[in-house]
Amino acid sequence: MTAKIIDGIAVAASIRAECRDRIAQIVAKGGTPPGLAVILVGSDPASQVYVRNKMRACAEVGIRSYRFDYPADVDQQTVIDGIEELNADPKVHGILVQLPLPPSFDIARILRTISADKDVDGFHLYNVGGLVVGGTVFPPCTPYGVLKLLQHEKIPLEGKNVVVVGASNIVGKPMALMLMHHEATVSICHAKTKDLAQFTILADILVVAAGKPNLILPQMVRTGAVVIDVGINRTADGKLVGDVDFEGVAKKASYITPVPGGVGPMTVSMLLVNTIASCERWQRHELFDLTNYRPRLEIAQP
Ligand code: NAP
Repeated sequence: MTAKIIDGIAVAASIRAECRDRIAQIVAKGGTPPGLAVILVGSDPASQVYVRNKMRACAEVGIRSYRFDYPADVDQQTVIDGIEELNADPKVHGILVQLPLPPSFDIARILRTISADKDVDGFHLYNVGGLVVGGTVFPPCTPYGVLKLLQHEKIPLEGKNVVVVGASNIVGKPMALMLMHHEATVSICHAKTKDLAQFTILADILVVAAGKPNLILPQMVRTGAVVIDVGINRTADGKLVGDVDFEGVAKKASYITPVPGGVGPMTVSMLLVNTIASCERWQRHELFDLTNYRPRLEIAQP
């Protein structure tokens, strides 16, 4: 078997064309075009590239983007004050803090400062809760992009065995929840999983987001499985690779995503989708009722 290679660039481009149409409709009705604020702390080279790509994608579809750069040694409160100003700014419908933040930052505190109504990354606790109960308006962009790829290829999810390798808050966990809401039977593996292969071999659909090149070898994949590689790793010779042995696994899988050109372009497109969705909500005055929500409440471990 030779897998069909899922073309994330093409699917992302069709989503961006839909984004342009939605923005044209907002503007035609006299609405403010969508606005995205992007906050970058420090000068991590990879983050600089991600931020530039996101802003370029915004410009391509007609989203106004506003970039705020802070030095790595900025006081956390200064960033919080900046976010609070953006929460109140009517031309901003989405606020994104580029991760990772410098180690001195309390990431949870920063993410909780972003208004749940402008949380286009879907990391605010309110939106995470919405995701758990199956009703979020801002699904986290990377797993949302994976779901769109699966839907684009008309790959059925109901009743399928799905294995998600990686359990981070931004990819693995939300991915597993989204797939559960589509009636899949989901297993989640992580670094402490004993004998990863005994899980992956059972997968009808395998989603890998561990950040480990060559973690998934052909003998770990069932013939005919759908393999989605979220990983992005740079090899010693500067090549970009995923977590899956692409050449070997492509001979066994029915579908596979390449790296680059698979999930990566989808992540940015789904950020655009969430920003437009936010703008449309603001224009419909359809905001969350957070009267009884106390964002500074510390969360007890269960
Ligand atoms: P992360 O926060 O480092 O989480 C990695 C997860 O993988 C953790 O849950 C970890 O387990 C698990 N893991 C690590 N080694 C493993 C192993 N040997 N076997 C099984 N599980 C293992 O990373 P992330 O932010 O989720 O990102 C994961 C990868 O996706 C990275 O390569 C990242 O660059 C890429 N990524 C791509 C996109 C995109 O748009 N394509 C977007 C985001 C991230 P523990 O929980 O036990 O530590």
